[in-house]
Amino acid sequence: MFLILGLLIVLAVLLILRPWERRECRWRQDARKLADGRVLFTCMACGAELALPKGRTPDTCLAGEQ
Ligand SMILES: [Zn+2]
Repeated sequence: MFLILGLLIVLAVLLILRPWERRECRWRQDARKLADGRVLFTCMACGAELALPKGRTPDTCLAGEQ
């Protein structure tokens, strides 16, 4: 009984956290500024680049979306 309960808990945790979909992006502000005033961010983990208006920081990973 406890074995089944444990398996159900593990399954629930896997479904909630979805570790295989987790993408940890480490955004670093690039020194280069774009011509229109936006700031370029580069992900250290996957190499994605994202240009955002000044003052904003990216919070999602763009891996596989390009
Ligand atoms: Zn990334």
